[in-house]
Amino acid sequence: MQFHTGFGDPDLDLRTANPLHLRPIFEDATLRRAPIVLLHAGYPFTREGGYLAAVYPNAYLDLGLALPYLSRAGMRFAARAALELAPISKIMFSTDAHLIPETFYLGARCGREVIAEVLSEAIADGDLSPAEADAAALDILHRNAARLYFGQGHIGPA
Ligand SMILES: [Zn+2]
Repeated sequence: MQFHTGFGDPDLDLRTANPLHLRPIFEDATLRRAPIVLLHAGYPFTREGGYLAAVYPNAYLDLGLALPYLSRAGMRFAARAALELAPISKIMFSTDAHLIPETFYLGARCGREVIAEVLSEAIADGDLSPAEADAAALDILHRNAARLYFGQGHIGPA
C-alpha cells in the first residue's frame, strides 16, 4: 500500500500530510502484515516518516519527489533525515518521474549523486564503513524496492 505523504499536488492540505497521521493504520492489527510505503519522503516531515519506518516493521520510506524536485540542499536534507533513524533496509529511492522524460534522467542522476554524498558523510562520521555504504547504496537504489515489490528476498514482517 502506498500513501502520498508530505508535499505533492497543489490541492493537498500540508497541515494534514504529516505521515504521523497514519498511526491508526500502523496500529491496526489486521494491517500489520501489509507493507505500507510512505511516498514523497513525507517531505518536509521526512524525520517523522523515518521514525515510522524505524518503529513499525511494515513501514517503508520512499524518497521520490523529494529527489529530484527539491534544491540540492533540500535533497540532501531529505536523504539525511531518512538516514537519521530509518533502517537502511526500509529506505527506497524513486524519482516520481512522470510525463516529462527529462525528469526520469534528472531523478536518476540526482538520486545517485545525493545518496552518494550523504553516504560519504556517513563514512566520514564513522556511522558506516565504506563497504557498508556501498551496500546501503545498492539497497536504497535497488534492492529494497526489488525485495518489497518483486519479492526478491523477504524484508517485511515475519
Ligand atoms: Zn507522487
